[in-house]
Order: sequence, then C-alpha cells, then structure tokens
Amino acid sequence: MRMEIPAHVAFIIDTLEKAGFEAYAVGGCVRDTILGREPGDWDVTTSARPGQVKRLFRRTADTGIKHGTVTVLLGGDGYEVTTYRIDGEYEDARHPKEVAFTASLTEDLKRRDFTINAMAYSPKAGIIDEFEGMEDLKRGIIRAVGNAKERFTEDALRMLRAVRFSAQLGFAVEGETAAAVREMAGRLSLISKERIQAELDKLLLSGHPEYIRRAYELGITAVILPEFDRIMEAPQRNRYHDLSVGEHTLKTLQHVRADHLLRWTMLLHDFGKPKASLTDPDGTIHFHGHAKISAELAKGILKGLKFDNATLEAVTKLVYYHDFPFPVSKAGVRKALNCLGEELFPLLLEVCEADSRGKNRYAQETYLPKLLAIREHYREVREAGDCVSLKDLAINGRDLIAAGMKPGKELGDALERCLEEVLGDPEKNTREYLLESALRQIEGS
Ligand code: ATP
Ligand code: MG
Repeated sequence: MRMEIPAHVAFIIDTLEKAGFEAYAVGGCVRDTILGREPGDWDVTTSARPGQVKRLFRRTADTGIKHGTVTVLLGGDGYEVTTYRIDGEYEDARHPKEVAFTASLTEDLKRRDFTINAMAYSPKAGIIDEFEGMEDLKRGIIRAVGNAKERFTEDALRMLRAVRFSAQLGFAVEGETAAAVREMAGRLSLISKERIQAELDKLLLSGHPEYIRRAYELGITAVILPEFDRIMEAPQRNRYHDLSVGEHTLKTLQHVRADHLLRWTMLLHDFGKPKASLTDPDGTIHFHGHAKISAELAKGILKGLKFDNATLEAVTKLVYYHDFPFPVSKAGVRKALNCLGEELFPLLLEVCEADSRGKNRYAQETYLPKLLAIREHYREVREAGDCVSLKDLAINGRDLIAAGMKPGKELGDALERCLEEVLGDPEKNTREYLLESALRQIEGS
C-alpha cells in the first residue's frame, strides 16, 4: 500500500537510506494517514544513531538526545527523528531507567503502546505492520501491543491513553486490554499530574468528550479525578432534569464546541452538586449554592493537575457564573460583563447554552428563550458602547482627588459605587453627575 507523505518526510527518509540506514515514518502519523485524518506531526524512526542523524542534516536540534531523539528542521517545520530503541526496565511505572538503542525495527515497534500506533511506513518498504494494527484500525479497537498487563505495569499512563485514543477515533477498548485497565488502574496514582493533564485535555477536546464515561467505567477516574465518580453516582430529580448529574454533564460536553476552556468548564460545572444536594419530602432534589462549591472544587482540581493560572482563573470564573445569576436585562448583562470581562462573557453564553441543552425539554423551553433575550441585550449594550468597567467610567481617581478627596480605600469604594450606578443606568456616566454623586456619598457616610 502506498501512502501520501509530506515531501520533507520523504526527504528525511531518503537521506537516511542513501547513507545506508533504515528509516520509516512511524506511530500516530501512519495511523492517522491510513484513517484519512490529518496527522498532528510526523515522526521518523531510524537505525541511525543520534550523532549520525545530526551529521546528515544541516539544521537539527537536540530535543531529546538522551532518548535518541533529534529534531530535523526543514523549512519552518521540525521533524522528530528517533533512533530505534528498546525501553529498559521501568522505574515506578513512569520513566524507563535507561533506553537502549537497537538495530531492529521490530524491537522498536514492540515498545509502542497500541497496535494502531505501532505501524511504520517508508515509500520503499510500504507499511510495516507486525501486530495487526491495520486489522485493529478496521475493527475500530484499541489493543495493547503484547501483554496488556505488562505494558501497563511499565507505564501506567497508557491506560488513560487507551481511553484518549478511543475518544479521538470513536474506537472501543478491546476486551483484554480493558480488563487489564480495570485491574491496574490504581497504578495511575504514580503518574505525574502534567502527563495526566495532557491526556485528559486531549480526551476532552476530542470528537467524543463523553467517552470519559469509559474512564469512569474502567476505574480510571476513581484514581485521577474521584470527584467525577461522585457526579456519576449523584441522582437528580426535579423539574429540569431526568439524568444523573454525571450523565447531564456528559451531554453538556457534547453540546459545547471543542474549546479548551469550554470543555473543562462543562466537565467541572456541576462537581459541587453532590455536596449541595438536598432532598424534599416529596423526593425533589435541590442543589442551592452548587455553582460556588463547583468553582471551589474546580480551582483545586485544576491546580492539582498543574494547569496554568490563566486557564485556572478563567474556568473557575465560568463555573462560578454558569447559572447566569444576573437579571435578564441590559443592566444584568452590563453587570455580567463587568464580572467576567469582555473576553469571557461570550464564552459564558456558550456555557449556559450547553448547560440548558443538557437538561430536559421543559428546562430547554424555559432557558433557551431567556438566553436569546440575553444575547439580544448583549448586542444592544455593545452597540451602544455602554460603560462596563472602571476604565470606561467618566471619572477616575484623579478627578476625585482634585475635588478634595484623599487617596485610599474610601476613594476606591466611591468609584465602585459610581460604576454600580452606571451599570444600572448608562445615562449617569457623565462627569457632572458622578462627581456630585461621589461627593454626596462621602458626605453621607
Ligand atoms: P497524537 O496525535 O496525539 O500526537 P500520537 O500517536 O502521535 O498521537 P504521541 O503521544 O505523539 O501520540 O506519541 C507518538 C508515538 O509514540 C505513539 O504513536 C506511540 O507509538 C509512541 N508512544 C507515545 N507514548 C507512549 C507510551 N507512553 N508508551 C508507549 N508508546 C508510546
Ligand atoms: Mg504525536
């Protein structure tokens, strides 16, 4: 079988072969090309040692030279070229203690995680498929190369990767591989939070974010995200919900676009419900104050997963306000814009919409028209260029000092109260009115 490969990759393979080495495109790029998907990056595996690779190409970078990887730079792009290797004994389910180079392509393919990721290709040799990767692609299954339990003992992250690939490709995890995950999932506690974050992120941004349910069923989330198990086990019985908190969450994930902040917000938005849950004598379940609890939990979880501050703050905020606790009016929209900022506000509307679409018909008929009204108010507020933050206020601290106020907390509070007035009524955003109002407040206090 012939495969289309980029000219740069063909050039790298050809250069290595002409120098007497073997070289193949390998892993995800072969898998994705066969599936007709656009590969994220192209990796090359070769019998040449890193030093030999470096001598053959004009521009290279030592990205992972200890592990045999040299990045070859061609045009504006980088291609990872890695020497055939065998991963030595593994230390604490994380890092191979040492890697040994080998002359055998088969040995290199054997160390890879799943059959569909263990195929190689070169224009001369065609597809090298020693573990039925092609068959598994056709069958739509994720299967470990060799003995699944052994492979998960070497590197526990592979268990989460199995679910991540199944979510990206819409595949099932093959029976024996799944059974091994069930048995070994506890070992995921040994894996660094950064690696877990990266795989969870890919799972959530995939075409099937709801496949995180598989991670729950296989006992993975119990180890890396136990709060998720709590929502899967939390019933909801009220006017707006027919599904458990967890199933509702999965539905909202499917109703929001594949954006990093949006998907994480939907995953976490109801994590506070189990804690907030109160059942009436008639069996109705309420969750008063859950958004705030969810926001606290979200913050802790994202921190624990070593997320950057920007993501942590944005998601926490979106979770906190996911119920849109503002009046449905232009004043309400201005308040929301002030709380969230101009960048997050439109995302909040997407969160609210996905949340509504994850509820029952009655809830959708109640909330979706409300959301339309909010969007209309938002359009008008923007068109009018209304003031929604201190920086748009017609007066600032210097004005108040010039009018005789002392710098300090009192001055800050006076400005905040002026802003509040203006959020309620933009007509009040004039120097004369606000100066007078601020001075009146001071005298009154
Ligand atoms: P993506 O599209 O996410 O980049 P990928 O298959 O290229 O998918 P990578 O994480 O980039 O995945 O890894 C590249 C290749 O290296 C894999 O296809 C697999 O062959 C191998 N590999 C990566 N991580 C592991 C691991 N933890 N255990 C075994 N093999 C791995
Ligand atoms: Mg890759």
